[in-house]
Amino acid sequence: MAEIVLKNVTKKFGSVTAVDNLSLVIKEGSFTTLLGPSGCGKTTTLRMIAGLDHPTSGEIWIGNRCVFSSEKGHYVPPGKRNLGLVFQSYALWPHMTVFENISFGLNVQKRRADDIREIASEVAAVLRIDDLLDRYPSELSGGQQQRVAIARVLVMKPQVMLLDEPLSNLDAKLRMDMRSEIKRLHSETGSTIVYVTHDQLEALTMSTDVAVLHNGVLQQLAPPMDLYHRPKNEFIADFVGNPRINLIQGRLLKEHDHLAIEAGGLRASFPHATDLSLVGEEATLGIRPEDIMLSTNPTPEGFEGMVYSVLPAGSEWYVRVRIGNDLLTVTEYDDMGLVNDQPVWICIQPNRAKCFARNGELLD
Ligand code: ATP
Repeated sequence: MAEIVLKNVTKKFGSVTAVDNLSLVIKEGSFTTLLGPSGCGKTTTLRMIAGLDHPTSGEIWIGNRCVFSSEKGHYVPPGKRNLGLVFQSYALWPHMTVFENISFGLNVQKRRADDIREIASEVAAVLRIDDLLDRYPSELSGGQQQRVAIARVLVMKPQVMLLDEPLSNLDAKLRMDMRSEIKRLHSETGSTIVYVTHDQLEALTMSTDVAVLHNGVLQQLAPPMDLYHRPKNEFIADFVGNPRINLIQGRLLKEHDHLAIEAGGLRASFPHATDLSLVGEEATLGIRPEDIMLSTNPTPEGFEGMVYSVLPAGSEWYVRVRIGNDLLTVTEYDDMGLVNDQPVWICIQPNRAKCFARNGELLD
């Protein structure tokens, strides 16, 4: 059993609270990513799970074993937690070749030489470092060193793997390839992976679950698509998604028995939001660029705007549209031949608009 449970975990560094009362269940066999902007407490959380940092308070369980409890004064050191670690400072053994680095743990386990060569070569091939096995770490680029560090952990097939930004030194193409390799390896090994990144695309593409942190506080734990389509608050909606969601300030009004929002000349209704005590309050309309349709002719439900600029991106076009005082981003998948200052009509896809209350929480 390799479920990881954090119960009310807080970590303070002097007056800085890096992690604030974090309770989190990382399911056995999941690929759970800790996502958030720099300084939100991701690495500190991972280091506490690894045993490299002591929480100020709280409990951590790995499997059915308590590995840290501030109350009971209980602490299991990193080497006894059965974890595979890949941290930003990958610290390969400088006096060992790539092959020796990768096979180090297997040697400690006294595996047969043939087996060691086979396992190490297989993993090295997947990570595309099989032609580097005789080199020393000082003869490798940062990205190659990172892949050796991953290989060194993967050969051990640990029940739990903790990975801190393991692909940060790779170029865009290799990063994409490695994402798919690591994701495949995860589904093949079934180990529990806890992965740290500030890259929302990496989190969405690789994970089974994503935990978003902000200022040391857990915002939401959800599968990637839930996070994208049903962000619990404005911070998550804004952080997840590229191009970013359009956020327009407005005011709530009553529409039959539910709420609607009027924001910057746009209007959207929310049939499930029925707390009419909020009528008149300020709120924010959130609408993703791909959930807006553009037309060059007036449409009955459309709102008139003007093309501000057109940004072709190969397979799609990002169109900036001025509507009232706001500039919205719209994703188009066909070349509409739009030109600056041309009038256009925008239509919000039904059920795709989101409304965030003044405190930032999603209204629904
Ligand atoms: P990044 O993506 O930049 O690595 P992060 O989300 O992983 O950021 P942490 O490294 O966990 O963030 O840091 C969380 C907060 O704790 C930050 O404000 C950081 O400055 C602070 N912090 C982390 N480690 C220490 C330390 N050893 N001493 C003092 N403050 C620390």
